[in-house]
Amino acid sequence: MAMKITTGTSELRDITKMERIGVHSHIRGLGLDDRLEPRESSQGLVGQAKARKAAGMILKMVKEGRIAGRAMLFAGPPSTGKTAIAMGMAQSLGEDVPFTSIAASEVFSLSMSKTEALTQAFRRSIGVRIKEESEIIEGEVVEIQIDRSLTGATKTGKLTIKTTDMETIYDLGTKMIDALTKEKVLAGDVIVIDKTSGKITKLGRSFARSRDYDAMGADTKFVQCPEGEIQKRKEVTHTVTLHEIDVINSRTQGFLALFAGDTGEIKPELRNQIDTKVSEWREEGKAEIVPGVLFIDEVHMLDIECFSFLNRALEGALAPLVIMASNRGMARIRGTKFKSPHGLPVDLLDRVLIVSTKPYVDEEIRQIIQIRCQEEDVQLTSEATDVLTSMALQTTLRYALNLISCAQVLAKKRKSESVDVEDLRRAYTYFMDEKRSVQWLKEQQGILMF
Ligand code: ATP
Repeated sequence: MAMKITTGTSELRDITKMERIGVHSHIRGLGLDDRLEPRESSQGLVGQAKARKAAGMILKMVKEGRIAGRAMLFAGPPSTGKTAIAMGMAQSLGEDVPFTSIAASEVFSLSMSKTEALTQAFRRSIGVRIKEESEIIEGEVVEIQIDRSLTGATKTGKLTIKTTDMETIYDLGTKMIDALTKEKVLAGDVIVIDKTSGKITKLGRSFARSRDYDAMGADTKFVQCPEGEIQKRKEVTHTVTLHEIDVINSRTQGFLALFAGDTGEIKPELRNQIDTKVSEWREEGKAEIVPGVLFIDEVHMLDIECFSFLNRALEGALAPLVIMASNRGMARIRGTKFKSPHGLPVDLLDRVLIVSTKPYVDEEIRQIIQIRCQEEDVQLTSEATDVLTSMALQTTLRYALNLISCAQVLAKKRKSESVDVEDLRRAYTYFMDEKRSVQWLKEQQGILMF
């Protein structure tokens, strides 16, 4: 018997996208102008002009829905902004285009097979934009009564709205009171209430009465009925991912598994049923597919079985844009004895658009350091900025950026507002970069276990 497929939107409406904080939190977009030309430094990104421009062109295709089934590879030395540019792409995609980011090594786990992990990552990157009917009431606020003696979660009240032919009274809960407060709704305003979501939008003031209102004060009750009407409207849309629909309809998992992140394996029969239902919704005009982006970092860590899965999955009708990143040159393809560029088999390489990233010059590094200091709210003296720039050139950009917060702790210890050269020097002696760590390991041979 065919089961009922739901999108679980009432529950999902409350799940908001988690904001990423951390090493890439200064990145707000790709920093391109209207002609897709990269600005020297914009939206947190500096330099790397060619790669950003290529990323912008690909994004344009994503937004026009012309990219499904393609793949892109960022190839370049460590710390040259491969992940940063992919993050920039995610930021520019807009709210309802899904972006999933995984490290290739996450695919290998005991709780599910490699292909199941990849399938879930693919389905997390495909959005289904669903259209729903929603009743909307539009009219002028006659009176708002809020019980001001109550605070916090227990706030209640009444809202009276006049429309052309009737007066509607709403019992207000805390959520609605918060929405009214946020929109600064007062008596005399014309508002729209979406009855499905409870969302309140202020359209403006009833012009005829605004002067009386000003003269009479905030608690005035208006008697006359202004223009307005009750409307029924369709076209309320929201987007969920195919993976969310899978999990919500999975008998063994259920909606709460989405919060825990531990969704286990999902039966292929269920996925088939869901795909059939979604294509029905599309035919009936109730839903459209929004192909998103799947970012796979350190892609050389995947093995030959995963690559063969990727090859096939990219050809599927429902495929996102796959962006991979690798800092390897010639490397062994895992699961084989063969070497190949970036550790990717040639048949996959063949269908991939490769974008290279290059090492930064002094001035670019200096600017990235300054952007990070702003993001982390750290003041760096101009000499210290010079020193950190040359440290980044001798070690890596990532190592130098990590030193910022360490040096700030040391500056605070000596009760200084700004980080100076000495703080950096000390931080440099406490924490080793990769080269010094290798050197140290050589010196410790025979003492440490290898
Ligand atoms: P790896 O190969 O080691 O994974 P990567 O090429 O992915 O390195 P990122 O992690 O993107 O390098 O860069 C290292 C740090 O430098 C991050 O904090 C990143 O946000 C920042 N960064 C790199 N390039 C830029 C840039 N062009 N503009 C601003 N910040 C950047």
